[in-house]
Amino acid sequence: MNPLTRYLRDEIATHGPITVATFMATAMSHPEHGYYMKRDPLGREGDFITAPEVSQMFGELIGLWCVAGWERMGRPEKLMLVELGPGRGTLMADALRAIATVPACRAALDIHLVEISPPLKAAQVNALDGNLITWHDSLAALPEGPMLLVTNELYDALPIHQFIRTAEGWRERLVDAAPEGFRFVLASQNTPTTALISGAACGAALGSIAEVSAVGVSLTHEIGRRIAASDGLALIIDYASDQGPIGDTLQAVRRHGYHPVLDDPGEADISARVDFTTMARVADEAGAQAFGPVNQGDFLAALGIEARAEILSRNASETQLADIAQAVQRLVGPSEMGCLFKALAIARSGSPPPVGFHD
Ligand code: SAH
Repeated sequence: MNPLTRYLRDEIATHGPITVATFMATAMSHPEHGYYMKRDPLGREGDFITAPEVSQMFGELIGLWCVAGWERMGRPEKLMLVELGPGRGTLMADALRAIATVPACRAALDIHLVEISPPLKAAQVNALDGNLITWHDSLAALPEGPMLLVTNELYDALPIHQFIRTAEGWRERLVDAAPEGFRFVLASQNTPTTALISGAACGAALGSIAEVSAVGVSLTHEIGRRIAASDGLALIIDYASDQGPIGDTLQAVRRHGYHPVLDDPGEADISARVDFTTMARVADEAGAQAFGPVNQGDFLAALGIEARAEILSRNASETQLADIAQAVQRLVGPSEMGCLFKALAIARSGSPPPVGFHD
């Protein structure tokens, strides 16, 4: 039995079954044994690969999106560039290289990274050597002020609550101890988080599962609030749910293969697809304006991924040519990340759509 299994079973023995969100939050970010505390999970040797790790083009195009954002904000002399959950720092390093082609924009930016993982923070220090960077444990710790905020594959790692539609209404799904590990059970009565289920889930059939990330909702609200108060622009890219809050999208991945969600907490990456419909609504309610979501493929096409691939291909070897073509396919292909991943932008209320988005 691994240490987190023992810890969670003790908690359950003392306090009773826990929410899926508590299970997930503990598995991912327990200060000592949590998944993100111990390792760099990215890349071929790790558990999964993300878009910035597929190709430098991803971060470069996001860098250009940031330059366009700075221009549309009236080229301010000071502006925060914030990334939430920067992984190995690859996206930021590639983005900064692209941004440096517009020196006045680069000079305006103060870089802030929000990260909870010590090993990944060490990787970021390495990847971003030579840049002045401030790290924070949470968005709440970031100073107030205008910002460009980007985040890729953070939201899907945020804990979710799950609910099942019963004849008595929505009931929260909980995690209880089983003889060996854990099992799902149904809460015998209403839990406070049931109130978070949006009207969108009202007509769901008996037995349906609904998911809500309370942490995701409050993070989006905080981003929207800051943009409404101080101006700014946010870009949230993630693995998207295709039915809003409805569906069981909780999954665990270990060494590039699926892993049973409740087995060996802390050893596998647990994630859930992001309900962008709810996030867009929350950003609007916070006083900002959401655009999208749009497919990652369309977003990258609008930013010129084909042209960037063409330039990179000019001096490329045969192997590099094949790698570039494969990376484009992976990032924009409809059956690959192009449609599964979506981008949501948050801007000041009443402002025109950011590059890659429409009304
Ligand atoms: N954006 C990177 C990494 C994605 S993995 C990429 O696309 O490659 C998820 C990242 O979010 C990791 O850096 C992880 O440590 C970080 N993370 C997870 N939970 C977090 C939280 N609550 N606050 C800030 N960062 C978090």
